[in-house]
Amino acid sequence: MAEKVVMGYVKCPVSGCSEFASVMKTAGTRTQFYTRCPECGCDQRNGQRQQNWIKDNMQPKKELLQATEPVAPVVEQKEPEPASGPDPVRPPRPVENKPKTTKTAKVGIFAVFGLVFGGLCGLAI
Ligand SMILES: [Zn+2]
Repeated sequence: MAEKVVMGYVKCPVSGCSEFASVMKTAGTRTQFYTRCPECGCDQRNGQRQQNWIKDNMQPKKELLQATEPVAPVVEQKEPEPASGPDPVRPPRPVENKPKTTKTAKVGIFAVFGLVFGGLCGLAI
């Protein structure tokens, strides 16, 4: 039996166990990881979930596992955006509401009206 090469270490997946399990590879065509805990023994579950878990959590040294263990997930706190200063207040512009065309338009209407009225008068007379 060939000596197993320790690929790394994971924290023992067994709940309540605080040991570090060594990770090894199975020999053969289907290479899979398995763990061996000094307390719990071998864990050779070959499910994809278990395999992924080992890959994701495996560290090359036990010390790294201990170092990473207490790290809490870092929550990035967004600083509140600095309140923008008061908007530059623009003095309301006096609106000139005198269309220039009104006068000439009125003149035009009167002119037309006068022509028509005058024509009618001319006919009536
Ligand atoms: Zn264990």
